[in-house]
This record gives sequence, structure tokens and C-alpha cells, in this order.
Amino acid sequence: DDVLLEIEDLRTHFLLDDGVVQAVDGVDLRVRRGETLAIVGESGCGKSVMARSVLRLVDPPGRIEGGRITLRREDGPVELVGADRKLLRQVRWRDIAMVFQEPMASLSLVHTIGSQIVEAVRLHENVGKATARKRAIDMLDRVGIPMPQRRVDAYPFELSGGMRQRAMIAMALSCRPSLLIADEPTTALDVTTQAQILELLRDLQAEFGMAIMLITHDLGVAAQVADSMAVMYLGRVVEYGTAEQVLAAPRHPYAQALLRSMPRLGRASRTRLTAIKGMVPPPYARPDGCTFHPRCERVMEGRCDTVTPRRIPVDDREVSCLLYEEES
Ligand code: SF4
Ligand code: MG
Repeated sequence: DDVLLEIEDLRTHFLLDDGVVQAVDGVDLRVRRGETLAIVGESGCGKSVMARSVLRLVDPPGRIEGGRITLRREDGPVELVGADRKLLRQVRWRDIAMVFQEPMASLSLVHTIGSQIVEAVRLHENVGKATARKRAIDMLDRVGIPMPQRRVDAYPFELSGGMRQRAMIAMALSCRPSLLIADEPTTALDVTTQAQILELLRDLQAEFGMAIMLITHDLGVAAQVADSMAVMYLGRVVEYGTAEQVLAAPRHPYAQALLRSMPRLGRASRTRLTAIKGMVPPPYARPDGCTFHPRCERVMEGRCDTVTPRRIPVDDREVSCLLYEEES
């Protein structure tokens, strides 16, 4: 069995004055070794909170209320939801590394790029400074930063946005993690740099064999790199299958609407883009029944607003929509 990370019934909630926000509300997902799983959906659908929950990086008032996250390491499985700090420190970087939309959020401003990579490597491996520095230079070279011997001593603010994102990726991969979680890694970049970074991720994946969990609101980005795809809406996965299946013929009305709203991916170029009706409701005003029903074009009156869809197999994938459930 080639599952590297298994997420079961994950629930991450925020206790706010307005009520409880169920940002992640019963997510089940699997990441296989070496694959790219794209998590797609509009912003505000819980993608980032889900990803941060994996590394237990959710800040209060957010809290993991339940579920299991199992990482299958070479030397046996570990459970991350109940993990202590020591285990989490070990897992971060060594097994699972994360890159964000804004690299400045995870790079220190007062240390050089090189010293940050050296520190990360030496925290997890018993190697000397010189070896770690050599690894840093190699990684900077590998991610396409020119003159790595010089750039290794640069501070983050001395690099352009695209170069900073490359440096962040170099740092994330310096401990050879088996999983890289990338949360909107190219969203802040111009189109050309975005394409370069995606290609870089693909090359590095082929070279190091790591799995990637890619969080993106951009189906075009997901289409370029994903093997599997999970479509999230209001804290739940509504469709989950291979990227090919989901992109070619989505089954869930939200996935269908999302696809129709994307340029480049629409079937015929003459087809007009159609925006998804309405907006993602505020998270504390979660609709009853199927949470997508106020926006759904195929809503069934008297049913979708009261019955919560179950996750069921539809055409080799998992879909949560009452259209595919037997009327009972
Ligand atoms: Fe639309 Fe009903 Fe399916 Fe929800 S359950 S996606 S409202 S058809
Ligand atoms: Mg986000």
C-alpha cells in the first residue's frame, strides 16, 4: 500500500464570539508516495486550515476537534493529531515541509538564506557546518538561483519575490521530506515566474520522489501538476478522484461550476465563462443540508436544504451530492 499520509474525519474548528466556525468539517484524504494531490476550491473553503492542521500549525482560537492524521514513515506509522512537541519537531522539515504564498512568512528576516538552511539541516541530521553549507549551496543551485555561492550569504530582502520563493523551496527540500505541502506557492508571482516555479516543483518531485499537497484556488495551476484532486467547499471535500477524471468530467455541481468559471480549461473556446452564482457564505452562517444548496443550479427543493449528502463512490471517485444518492 503506497499511502504516505492518511487524513480521517479531520475536524478543525475556530471558537469565535459569533459562534463556532467549522473550518474543516470531516475531511478524509490520502496522499500517496510521490504523487501530487491538489486541493482546490474558492478561498474561504478551509483548504489552508486543513493543510496547516497536518503540521499542527493552526493558531488559537483554532483547534483540531477530532480525527486522525497518520504519516506512514519508513520505520512505521505515526499519528500527528495527538503527537507531542518532540515528535512534531522531528516530523516538520524531515518528513513534511511546507511552503507558503508569502515566503517572508517563514523565512527569518535577520538571518541569511544559507544560515537558515544550515540550521534546518543540522537540526535533523548529524552533519557538520561545512557539509550543511555545501548542501545549502547545492539546493539553491538546484532551484535555479544564479550564483548560489554568493546568494547563500544573502538576506531574504535582497532577493526578488520569485527568487525568495525558490529559496523557500530550497529550504523546504533541504531535509529531503517525503511530503511537501505548498499553499498557493505561486499566487503572488507573475505568470512567467509562476510557470517556472511549477516546472521546478515537478522536476524536484521527479528527482527526490516526494509527494506534494498543493493548495490552490487556481484550477489551471492544479491542472498543470496534479495527479489527484480534491475539491473542497465549506470545510468538506465534495469531490475526490484523479485529476484527469475530475477535470474531464466533474460530477459534483460545485466542481462543475468551478470548472466552468475557469479560463483555459473550458472545453470549447467559444464557451462563455460563467461565474459561480453567489458567494461563499460567511463561515458562521453555514447552510443546513448540503452547504452548497443556496448556490447550486441543480438544487432539489425540500431535499438539498435538509439532508446532508454522504460521501459515495461515483465513477471511480468520491462525491458528496444527493443527485447520486438513492431517494430514501
Ligand atoms: Fe446541489 Fe443538492 Fe447536490 Fe448539494 S446535494 S450539490 S444542492 S444537487
Ligand atoms: Mg488559503
